[in-house]
Amino acid sequence: MTPMPLIFAATCDIAGKVRGKAFPADQLEKRLSRGVGWVPTNVQITCFDSIAESPFGSLGDLLLVPDPSCEVNVAFGEGAPEHFMLGDIVTLDGDPWAFCTRRLLRDALDRLHRLTDARLFSAFEHEFQLKGTGLPNEGFGRRAFEDQRGLLETLMGALKAAGLTPDSIMKEYGPNQFEVVLAPEIGVRSADAAVILRELTRSAARAAGEEATFAPILDTASVGNGVHIHLSFQDADGTPLTHDEDGPCGMSDLTAGFAAGVLKYMASILALTAPSVVSYERLTPHRWSAAYNNLGFRDREASLRVCPVTARDPASIARQFNIEYRAADAAACPHLALAAVVHAGCQGIEDGLRAPTATEDDLSLLSPEELTARGFTRLPETLVSALDAFTGNDTVTGWFPDPFAAVYRAHKEAEIAHLDGMDTPAKCAAYATTY
Ligand code: GLU
Ligand code: MG
Repeated sequence: MTPMPLIFAATCDIAGKVRGKAFPADQLEKRLSRGVGWVPTNVQITCFDSIAESPFGSLGDLLLVPDPSCEVNVAFGEGAPEHFMLGDIVTLDGDPWAFCTRRLLRDALDRLHRLTDARLFSAFEHEFQLKGTGLPNEGFGRRAFEDQRGLLETLMGALKAAGLTPDSIMKEYGPNQFEVVLAPEIGVRSADAAVILRELTRSAARAAGEEATFAPILDTASVGNGVHIHLSFQDADGTPLTHDEDGPCGMSDLTAGFAAGVLKYMASILALTAPSVVSYERLTPHRWSAAYNNLGFRDREASLRVCPVTARDPASIARQFNIEYRAADAAACPHLALAAVVHAGCQGIEDGLRAPTATEDDLSLLSPEELTARGFTRLPETLVSALDAFTGNDTVTGWFPDPFAAVYRAHKEAEIAHLDGMDTPAKCAAYATTY
């Protein structure tokens, strides 16, 4: 018997899980046009495999069509290579489906293109932890890095083999925590790259006899695992549009309007960018994550940060300059998180919002009245209040096709119900098994 090589056609769904079906590799040509069969109610499979109330029931059929530009074919050790392709979910007529996360991101990017001549570049920075205790006292430590050098070099090699551009990798501050960064990519590609990075990180860890988790937080006494999305703009000819040396914090008008929109709508998009119950254990003050809707100039406590540049000459500064959305984690599908951020930014541009002022002080010391007077809000402190802020904001729900918001809410309510009765450590442990 000869094993039959298989290709796994995949989607990263609204639960942030990568799911799909495999077909024999020699059928690729046919599958690139006809896809594999997919079921609408799959969108209601939560990250814990419970099925939320679905408007589709047992009805309907869809196609998951693999996209060869998202092909990953990487061998870890002696076994068969891991071979998968992300794709789009379409109706039997070939129309984009309302819950296809790649389609939702494309909608947002199309809106940006209609509004400006800017093309979005983004880079996802991911933190993850290896399960097990790891070495103590090794924040950014070389010893812990060397202990995992084999795994980390395998991972960086796998990312490159998958056609991505690894930027850097390090031992992060937290226990057994690491961070891996990809170079910026245009449009949908950066979200595809983020999905591929998560999958290959878990695979590289498995190959090294370890288990990697991107769960937002494992232990509330320690730090969380963030996903930070770096954003910049270029026109169609590649001219950078993000920076203006005379602009507030160096932001161009485009960046300032976009940033103002992201901050204005942040509370209402949080349910999409930090969508787990324990995400809100991470989004608390003094964790270098994000607790308020504030812009920080090189301040890691801010939810939106103007990042430093290392270049000296004006052309390189303009190219490097970027802003960073820090209120995201890997429970979120990267496409959905980026779509929400882009829509919020577009809304800011459309509404002609003025540049936000950067904060330099500790907002956790302000009273609620002082916060309001300065135009800030404490971001939602639970998934339920984040969902209320999302579904209660008609502007925000209007960015998505009907009935996305209601279905998303039902999905998340089933996820919340699954955790009913658990204490916080048990909830963190549950997420560590799924992300
Ligand atoms: N671990 C922090 C977070 O949850 C980020 C630390 C940093 O890289 O600035 O987002
Ligand atoms: Mg970090």
